[in-house]
Amino acid sequence: MTEFLIAPNPIRTVLIANRGEIACRIMRTCRRLGLRTVAIYSKADSNALHVKLANKAVCVGPAAASESYLNIQAIIEAAKTSGADAVHPGYGFLSENSNFARACDEAGLIFIGPSADAVAEMGSKIQARSIAKKAGVPTVPGFEGINASYEDLAEAADALGYPVMIKANSGGGGRGMRQVINPNELKGAIDSARQEAGASFGDDSIFIEKLIDSPRHLEVQVFGDGRGGALHFYERDCSVQRNHQKVVEEAPAPNLPEEVREKLLESALKLTKSIEYAGAGTVEFIMEADGDSPYFLEMNTRLQVEHPVTEEICGVDLVEFQLRLAAGLSLPLTQEQIVPKGHSIEVRINAERPENGFMPGTGTFLAVDGPAGLRFETGVAMGSSVGTNYDSMLAKLISYGPDRESARRQLVDGLKSLAMIGVPTNQTFLIDCLEAKAFADGTITTGFLSETFPNGWSPDVNELTRLRGAAAKAFCDTGEDDPRQRRDWFRTIKSHRGARADFVIKDDFGNAELTLWAGDRNAVESEGKCLDMAGIEATVFKAPDALYAMRNGLTIATNIVAASDAKLGGAGTSQSENDITAQLTGLVTKVFVTEGEEVEAGTLLLEMEAMKMVHTLTAPFDGKVSNVSCTEGATVQAKTVLMSIEEVE
Ligand code: ADP
Ligand code: ADP
Ligand code: MG
Repeated sequence: MTEFLIAPNPIRTVLIANRGEIACRIMRTCRRLGLRTVAIYSKADSNALHVKLANKAVCVGPAAASESYLNIQAIIEAAKTSGADAVHPGYGFLSENSNFARACDEAGLIFIGPSADAVAEMGSKIQARSIAKKAGVPTVPGFEGINASYEDLAEAADALGYPVMIKANSGGGGRGMRQVINPNELKGAIDSARQEAGASFGDDSIFIEKLIDSPRHLEVQVFGDGRGGALHFYERDCSVQRNHQKVVEEAPAPNLPEEVREKLLESALKLTKSIEYAGAGTVEFIMEADGDSPYFLEMNTRLQVEHPVTEEICGVDLVEFQLRLAAGLSLPLTQEQIVPKGHSIEVRINAERPENGFMPGTGTFLAVDGPAGLRFETGVAMGSSVGTNYDSMLAKLISYGPDRESARRQLVDGLKSLAMIGVPTNQTFLIDCLEAKAFADGTITTGFLSETFPNGWSPDVNELTRLRGAAAKAFCDTGEDDPRQRRDWFRTIKSHRGARADFVIKDDFGNAELTLWAGDRNAVESEGKCLDMAGIEATVFKAPDALYAMRNGLTIATNIVAASDAKLGGAGTSQSENDITAQLTGLVTKVFVTEGEEVEAGTLLLEMEAMKMVHTLTAPFDGKVSNVSCTEGATVQAKTVLMSIEEVE
């Protein structure tokens, strides 16, 4: 490590040409090695975490990535003016752009990655396939012809046999891919894949692969020395995917026959050595679920999102190795010294709403607090805002244990205690993925998510109801408009046997009517189902826009209205706790009881309409109706006493 601080190491200051969690992750290693860091940022990111963590930060353009994080000229300029010696591209953005690698070279900056030529060769999936074949590495059966006509492609698809996959030559991030089940879909798939590829990657060339049905995604972390030597850091399994994008990753691959592992590692090394690759790379493969022949898919010439699981089992820091190699130092390891131990699992935490078709989530974080004892790599902190300009990945959470099951359990527990409040995330969805039987068994294929959640995902109904109940309790405790009043009120209903309060709740998961039973009967009821609330505690944040409640990793942003409640608003204005008071100004639509009538706790007393919602008021305890002062059709002011209930012995 000290080698970094002594001459002639040419790297003293590293510019990180990225944002978010990966920029923060790279800075952590730089700092540990005594290197200075320069962040770049767009105008939308001036308060971002990666800007705060760097020694220096340079604005490189407006919010649009094409004008900032993808602006090669502005980034090179920033590196020069800030005195950086080297540029780390992270992943995404310019990390696989050979023009950027070349521009760094030309500006006399060290590009922390492979040569521009290697980036270009592997950036073309068609070229990569042919390099792999030449190196003796099996590729997915397929057909590539850069300028192939539609007729050629159709003929090739017939020869391969349906179903096939149309893929973009320059594809990445799961885009530009189309499954084709039968021949009459081929033309449409080719056209739309071409269009997406052209728009996303500026290259509309496509090729065809045989579609492997629900395969496993396996990949090998490699490190080339640039002279034909290479090390591998074993494999990862990234089969939990949505839209061909990884969601959960782990190392080592579970239930992998040893001879298949050997094939994978050998193929990856062969390919890496054959191109005299320099630096960190990942060789990706797919394999039929129960197969034994992995097919080469592509090579990513950069650090991968899931690199931490490899670091955990191999006990290394891959960013340090990247920096060493870029600085002209050798890796302090031989292949024999890389001995994987234990098991590691990573989840990608995204700003999205899995319950709503994974729509992107936006907002500002009120709290970001990683779980104790787990590796949590985040690009956001309290106060960070999340918009829709960039990728939705916010953070990753990584567990490590002596075996897979302990790593899995730690990660579930970690996700349950992780607090990310203010922006919707996929946190609970991830818990459900890790808890699913197929995952626990380690028998995952890329079909896992659609098989596990065939109708989409929604949170456990009971968990949701309990959380809403806890939110409603907190609403009573903290008060909506007058905290003191509501606290008094809640104490009041607590003192009564079987006292209840009704609410209408609106949150990320929809609207719900909810009844909270206090006193001896500590329970919450919704849609006819009553759940015990004993010991149910939620973390609650009160923000101007909503009351946020979190429990077991499930977070809701609620708006709560007390719908039916005898004592609501009572303590402050009513003469006694026996008074039934209008909570809001509104119209009395129905009066269900008459003077002198005996009622039980929960008996419907009257119905009101206010704020476009129907509120029902019920008896707070057993008693006799008295002093009815309202009639159907009357408009009453908030806090007006509508009737009273006399307690009967
Ligand atoms: P990995 O194998 O490292 O997970 P991915 O293909 O999932 O690689 O991409 C890594 C990250 O970079 C993801 O957050 C993804 O959305 C983003 N990304 C991938 N390709 C691109 C691209 N061409 N432009 C912008 N972002 C990209
Ligand atoms: P990207 O550059 O977008 O990461 P990849 O070629 O690595 O593209 O493929 C991403 C994912 O898409 C794979 O992990 C796999 O799940 C799926 N996929 C790609 N090619 C095929 C194929 N021929 N058959 C089945 N699934 C495939
Ligand atoms: Mg890939």
